[in-house]
Amino acid sequence: MIPVLGYENARVAVLGLGRSGLATARALQAGGAKPLCWDDSPEARDKAAEQGLALYDLTRADAWDDVAALIVSPGIPHLYPAPNKLIARAMEAGVPVDNDIGLFFRSLALNTWDQLESPPRVVAVTGSNGKSTTSALIHHILTVSGKPSQLAGNIGRGVLDIDPPGEASVIVLELSSYQTDLARALTPDIAVFTNLSPDHLDRHGGIGGYFAAKRRLFAEGGPDRAVIGVDEPEGVYLANQLVEHASDDRLIRISVDRKLTGPGWSVQARKGHLSEWRKGRQMGTIDLRAIVGLPGSHNHQNACAAYAVARTLGLPPRTIEDALHSFAGLPHRSQMVGEKAGVRFVNDSKATNVDSAEKALLAFKSIRWIAGGLGKDGGIASLSPHLGEVKKAYLIGHSARDFALQLGDTPHEICDTMANAVARAAAEAEPGDTVLLAPAAASFDQYPNFEKRGEDFVAQVARLLDTRA
Ligand code: ADP
Repeated sequence: MIPVLGYENARVAVLGLGRSGLATARALQAGGAKPLCWDDSPEARDKAAEQGLALYDLTRADAWDDVAALIVSPGIPHLYPAPNKLIARAMEAGVPVDNDIGLFFRSLALNTWDQLESPPRVVAVTGSNGKSTTSALIHHILTVSGKPSQLAGNIGRGVLDIDPPGEASVIVLELSSYQTDLARALTPDIAVFTNLSPDHLDRHGGIGGYFAAKRRLFAEGGPDRAVIGVDEPEGVYLANQLVEHASDDRLIRISVDRKLTGPGWSVQARKGHLSEWRKGRQMGTIDLRAIVGLPGSHNHQNACAAYAVARTLGLPPRTIEDALHSFAGLPHRSQMVGEKAGVRFVNDSKATNVDSAEKALLAFKSIRWIAGGLGKDGGIASLSPHLGEVKKAYLIGHSARDFALQLGDTPHEICDTMANAVARAAAEAEPGDTVLLAPAAASFDQYPNFEKRGEDFVAQVARLLDTRA
């Protein structure tokens, strides 16, 4: 655990008692603060009380007297589509609102870790897609290269739950837009921006607010080194804001779309070949097509970002290449879950928006596509140009009929459930086909989360492969 510093003896309200809220309350307590815990749900409150945390009714009219800060969980809106009532009241009472990420960076600044010979370094990864894969990949490269590393944030452990970092260790944080939007301190040593496409727009008042939330990672204090995906105009703009001159190598540009030129530092992957350029010279190259755990150009983008971070931390290209080969990939992201009679089954349940689904559709051939769920604004209309490899779509969930209308000439069938969709796709599949779950929709109509949806797919595939054996 990282004890929260800076609030000794102060009363600090904690709203939202899920995994990160509970960890925050414990870390506040460990640092000598008095956490005042609250959640709308009585079950969540009971759980906190069982852990010995003091509950405090934040709905009381006088709740904000003498409260030093309010720490909120990422799922609770503080501004859009409408501020949570308790957050609004805290703001009216002049109580600063923060989150666990802000507390982490604040504690880091106050901690005596700088007395270590090689103080810990923090790598923070944000972007619309690829955050988890890139963060896990950086952590993997460091770990197999013998560098101590911990992975936390939006992936794995809550940030205040990690072990106190030791000599020359690295903390890799995956940060969502909800987290970067609110944190009052954001001072990573190395910051990564993978890409930008519309998502969670209701929580940010539109695309501008969404980009602004992500940009804060580069603005509040400024990282020593920034790794920026420049395949969208927002990335180009952000990169441009960070440099003093064209060969400023505090910035590493990454791209999978085009050839980057100029004297600056860049890592690019075109047609599956990664190459690193610095001051006009090629420094390293890797054939990414041979890396099984990172299929498709979207994963090549993640590989470029992770490679750039590892280079910044002093690893040589060959060491990074070896580590890429041993990366198994993450569950629910282009995850190969079985193969039978020449038909492959791939679980990309995390493709919850059209951009990630598009990348999956471009990464495989002869696709039997399982899609649908709780559709997002615009449905799948923007996927029309990318359906060339789709032999047939098998539609599930709430959006099945809407998606059917948007599919036009692409063969499709309404299957409603995952079990039906897997059975129908497998029955019709021919050798060489890939049965791909890439829903382009959220999971909440049929499942508690995308993990459960992916597990259902994997279970249906396993059952089918067993019975066909
Ligand atoms: P995030 O943590 O940002 O949601 P993940 O690594 O969990 O990112 O991947 C989310 C989804 O996006 C998965 O469907 C995955 O296959 C796809 N994906 C992964 N990397 C990228 C990328 N660089 N660009 C677009 N889609 C990606």
